[in-house]
Amino acid sequence: MSTAVSANTPESVESTAARGTAERPLRIAIIGSGPAGVYAADMLTKSEEVRDGLVLGIDLFDRYPAPYGLIRYGVAPDHPRIKGIVNALHKVLDRGDIRFFGNVDYGTDLSLEDLQTHYDAVIFATGAIKDADLNIPGIELDGSYGGADFVSWYDGHPDVPREWPLTAKEIAVIGNGNVALDVARVLSKHADDLLVTEIPDNVYAGLKESPVTDVHIFGRRGPAQVKFTPLELRELSHSRDVDIVLYEEDFDFDDASDEAVKTNNQIKTMVGTLTNWLVEQDDDAADPTTGASRRLHLHFLHNPVEITGEDGKVTGIKFERNELDGTGNARGTGEFIDYPVQAVYRSVGYFGSALPDVDFDHRRGVVTNDGGRVLGADGTQVPGVYATGWIKRGPVGLIGHTKGDALETITHLLADRTELPAAVVPAADAIGALLESRGVEFTSWEGWNELDAHEKALGAAATEAGPVARERVKVVSREEMVSVSRSAGVLR
Ligand code: NAP
Repeated sequence: MSTAVSANTPESVESTAARGTAERPLRIAIIGSGPAGVYAADMLTKSEEVRDGLVLGIDLFDRYPAPYGLIRYGVAPDHPRIKGIVNALHKVLDRGDIRFFGNVDYGTDLSLEDLQTHYDAVIFATGAIKDADLNIPGIELDGSYGGADFVSWYDGHPDVPREWPLTAKEIAVIGNGNVALDVARVLSKHADDLLVTEIPDNVYAGLKESPVTDVHIFGRRGPAQVKFTPLELRELSHSRDVDIVLYEEDFDFDDASDEAVKTNNQIKTMVGTLTNWLVEQDDDAADPTTGASRRLHLHFLHNPVEITGEDGKVTGIKFERNELDGTGNARGTGEFIDYPVQAVYRSVGYFGSALPDVDFDHRRGVVTNDGGRVLGADGTQVPGVYATGWIKRGPVGLIGHTKGDALETITHLLADRTELPAAVVPAADAIGALLESRGVEFTSWEGWNELDAHEKALGAAATEAGPVARERVKVVSREEMVSVSRSAGVLR
């Protein structure tokens, strides 16, 4: 890709002063404005080196017109507590010492070479938004979906279709992680109970039409091996008119399970929650439910082996019954069970996407790196290129865990700073000029504030017109997001 702004034109060349000074800041590009990218930016600005006088120029890029990555496009709408993290990220970006360039796609609008021309260092914080594969027969049938794709739909991601087929009465969700809980909770909740959230209008309309009666969550191991977290599990029982149903035969505990319950408080709490639910329903064994119009079933020790179908459409799912092997792992028993379902959602983890010009570990779905220092195919460090967050360590851990990651990466970057490649770094405004020259309609921090205010105004209008108070209604279309954002003018 050619660079439209030459690094050598007189107006774009900065002074020859030492790097890291007010005259010649150490310039860092961060790709991805989710928690990983913003934490890295924030930690850089608060580092000891900066306190000792190092001057940085940090630009944060995102392929979406709005910032916050996974928080805007991965957290369930009925999780306002996590959305509260947005307030902390907002404060960081609102200080004015970190610039935001939205609607800029790394690999399309900017190449690694462009970034290396304009910056001393690049940090990739692109996360993981795709579903991990589940390779079983029938996975390609109509009615078999990736949970992460459904999350993108209900979170109003600009690049997914507006319509989601919600025609199934019985649904299987595969996986025992928090994403499976999110997917199952949103599928089983009544749409009216989600109206207080920021769900886009098309999502409300889609969910409102859903004829669902039964959502089944299937884990392949036992109750002591779930990857949920206690709060998120407990929350399942808070949905109105949704009964939770458990099965006594699934409550199997091996030595490793007993050990986990003894030594891990989270597991102890969750096993307690699940057991209480089981006992409560057994108190009324003839009818384990309260007669709610929707049911959420939790099954354990079910290993998915095939999605079955007719005329190309999902009609059921087959599992092999598992048993625990003493170590907390599971093995097949040779017994098979079929469930009639019309839709299957796999929530078996996220997977990172490869980035152009960066070596990728396709087995783990991460950028090849050593403690955040990006490595080339030959295993040696690529000077000035770093990674942080899920694209560095894989899609595990809660949002807060990303902080430790960011600290490691920025510590390495700052330790390397005197050995970073001596590129000719153009003046700070050259990157905007380059994007303009390529016709990239990038958005800015001021633009986000404009869009933020617009979405809140839509919420206020909906509150006036409708039955419930709505703080915000999300804008979904990329064109509309860009047009509202750019009405604020371009860069500070
Ligand atoms: P996860 O926590 O890794 O859970 C993946 C689940 O899929 C596990 O139960 C795993 O079982 C199962 N699985 C994997 N391969 C399978 C297969 N072939 N067949 C059947 N089951 C299979 O992943 P996640 O749910 O995508 O979550 C990713 C991260 O985001 C986690 O750290 C999670 O806590 C976090 N998150 C948090 C929230 C929140 O509200 N706090 C919301 C969403 C996500 P095994 O354990 O047997 O491998």
